Amino acid sequence: MNFGITSDQEAMLGHVRALLDDVCDMAYVAKCDETRTPPREAFDAMARNGWLGLIAPEEYGGAGGSPTDLALLLEETGNHFEELGLWLFRNFTYGCYAVLKHGTDEQKRRIVPGVVKGELSFAFGLTEPDSGSDAAALRTRAVADGSDFVINGRKQFTSGMDIADYVLLALRTSDQGKKQLGISTFIVDTKLPGIEVRKIPTLGQHAIGTTEVTFNDVRVPATALLGQLDKGWAICEDTLRYERLCLSAARIGAARRAFELALDYAKTRTQFGKPIGSFQVTQHKFADMKVMLDTSQTMIRRYAWLMENGKAERADTAVIKYYIAESYKTISDVCLQIFGGYGYCMEYPMQRFFRDSRLATIGGGTSEIQKNIIAATLGL
Ligand SMILES: Cc1cc2nc3c(=O)[nH]c(=O)nc-3n(C[C@H](O)[C@H](O)[C@H](O)COP(=O)(O)OP(=O)(O)OC[C@H]3O[C@@H](n4cnc5c(N)ncnc54)[C@H](O)[C@@H]3O)c2cc1C
Repeated sequence: MNFGITSDQEAMLGHVRALLDDVCDMAYVAKCDETRTPPREAFDAMARNGWLGLIAPEEYGGAGGSPTDLALLLEETGNHFEELGLWLFRNFTYGCYAVLKHGTDEQKRRIVPGVVKGELSFAFGLTEPDSGSDAAALRTRAVADGSDFVINGRKQFTSGMDIADYVLLALRTSDQGKKQLGISTFIVDTKLPGIEVRKIPTLGQHAIGTTEVTFNDVRVPATALLGQLDKGWAICEDTLRYERLCLSAARIGAARRAFELALDYAKTRTQFGKPIGSFQVTQHKFADMKVMLDTSQTMIRRYAWLMENGKAERADTAVIKYYIAESYKTISDVCLQIFGGYGYCMEYPMQRFFRDSRLATIGGGTSEIQKNIIAATLGL
């Protein structure tokens, strides 16, 4: 297995890094976070430069890139601004990957070119107030009415819904005993009558964040159905595998930025007449973090390779989601400690990494659930 980066991929990383250094520097990120404003200018710049089409085939205006290409792009984006990476990931995962793999020709033609150009954005509504980790227990319903469906219920934590044009929804369409049966996926226009969106105040992820969405008699045409009726759970599981590649890649990038900032600080901050980085206790913290970062990068490259070769199993996804999320959380916490009192101040960037990283072990499936999935494969 070759986990190395090709010269084309190195060139891609160079372009993306230079672009983001220009349009998404630390001051811009701090402003988006403080003013709770989505990084629209940086998103548009990524679109103008063609990066939103990375994984779409050329016939839809894209570049036909691989999961490894995508992981590299999202790592570099997350290194500049995790929330920009998460915005892109939602479009790649739900607007490109899910539609291209499970959609009709009409859906592909209607949606993918707009996502590639950055004209359409996506959100994902799986979680509900009473079904989080037990996601298949969802109850929001779509009932057939003539050739339409009518949606009623509530979704919880639908991130980016307020800036999305479409939301990929997992909905109950029949009761068949086993909860995974009778779920269907729909691509729904977020501006339809009967949809109410409420922003949920959260600890971190302030630029885009998350929402609660209520559906009151929302009427959608049959063309909104993605895949076959009642067979949507398999689409959710498949999409979640792709989501976890993207989320993990963006989080490695963010963890690397926290590490880089703390490393600079440890070299320049002097106490007791020496840089704090000269104390062995500080050096060991950096050694531990370097091991976590290198391991995370190796794991994501291996996982992308498994995806490219159709070999990624459910447990492989859980392994990367669990390890990379926990590493990011730990690295952000340790880096805040290295900044001392300044780490705790809102005027310095480290508090944002600490707040944003806290979601990593919860969103996209908690660490406990990932460990359940891994353990279930061990024949205990
Ligand atoms: C900011 C944010 C953004 C999000 N974005 C989205 C989104 O865009 N789309 C979407 O659909 N969802 C989204 N989520 C939802 C997220 O995936 C869920 O919060 C997560 O899956 C956990 O569900 P829950 O919050 O209901 O917690 P619960 O499922 O109620 O879990 C509570 C605690 O119990 C533990 N637990 C539960 N069951 C078990 C078990 N069997 N074994 C061991 N421990 C267990 C959990 O690990 C957790 O610690 C988001 C959440 C947040 C906070």
